[in-house]
Amino acid sequence: MLNLDQATVRFGRHRALRALDGVTLDVAAHDIVCVLGPSGSGKSTLLRAVAGLTLLDSGRVLLEGHDQQGVPPHRRGVGLMFQDHQLFPQHDAGGNVAFGLRMHGTPRRERDARVAELLDLVGLPGAERRAVGTLSGGEQQRVALARALAPRPRLLMLDEPFGQLDRTLRERLVTELRDLFHDLGTTVLAVTHDQGEAFALADRVVVMADGRIAQTGSPLDVWRHPADTFVARFLGFDNIVPATVTTGAAATPWGKLPVPESTPHGACHLLVRPAGVRLVPADQGLACTVAARTFRGTHVAVRLRPTTEGPPLEAACALRDAPGPGDTVGVAFDEQDIVVLP
Ligand code: ADP
Ligand code: MG
Repeated sequence: MLNLDQATVRFGRHRALRALDGVTLDVAAHDIVCVLGPSGSGKSTLLRAVAGLTLLDSGRVLLEGHDQQGVPPHRRGVGLMFQDHQLFPQHDAGGNVAFGLRMHGTPRRERDARVAELLDLVGLPGAERRAVGTLSGGEQQRVALARALAPRPRLLMLDEPFGQLDRTLRERLVTELRDLFHDLGTTVLAVTHDQGEAFALADRVVVMADGRIAQTGSPLDVWRHPADTFVARFLGFDNIVPATVTTGAAATPWGKLPVPESTPHGACHLLVRPAGVRLVPADQGLACTVAARTFRGTHVAVRLRPTTEGPPLEAACALRDAPGPGDTVGVAFDEQDIVVLP
């Protein structure tokens, strides 16, 4: 459906800033792909380049195999929904959804039917005559989505679509949308800086850093095997230490940690998932003091400070047996929660 081939966009004096730096990416029909990255990593530029709102300095964008160079935005057949999802305040909900259809000269009766169908689809049946100002944030988001879907774009692109919504509403909408897109067979390219959102929505996640792709994979793959320390830290993993691998073990500031036999020898980094940081009696393993603990709903995040050397680390404990600040504990490391980062 969509191919980016070494797509590059430069900005600034002497065009020295590479907002998009040789990005190659394929999106198959009916796929939901979510681009994840920190602010400024080039996510919006990527969408704007596909939509034709920003021109490439080099490389190509192909839609269904056709090079889009010189094709204006309204001829590309893609829908783009921006972060602020500005609805037209002078139009009611129905008027907003009908916007793209009017632009395409769709006859009145067909338009009305399509608007009703779409409002129904996004869970706002009969909302045609409601004024934009009387809609809640979540309802406005749904209307904006219906408006983007109305002209049946072959590719729907969403730029931080849930940024303005509170967490509960966002989590519900993301799940609903994923089901809706799968039912409709819509091809979706969404961008977000929120990992939870990306992992909940996507069939495939693309992690971006400084205009480049740092990793692509299924949400599970990326979560289980972050490609490098940047991706790991961006996903919120903080237990990362430099390591030197010899056969079956790695020397780290936290002592010797187990790694798979097949791990290449030499310098690397290790990530230890908080679930793999196991608390043991104080006279065993790595001696630590509990610096803080934070309730996370399903578990307690325990912040530990090694008493001799090494950076602080975090353990995920069951609510029942989490130690308190000032306690002294021992720490053991579970091999299955250790990831070797190149
Ligand atoms: P993201 O959406 O991931 O936050 P953007 O694609 O908006 O990132 O921006 C990527 C980089 O390009 C940033 O450094 C940003 O400042 C720069 N940039 C984006 N648009 C423009 C523009 N129109 N002019 C100059 N620099 C821009
Ligand atoms: Mg952006």
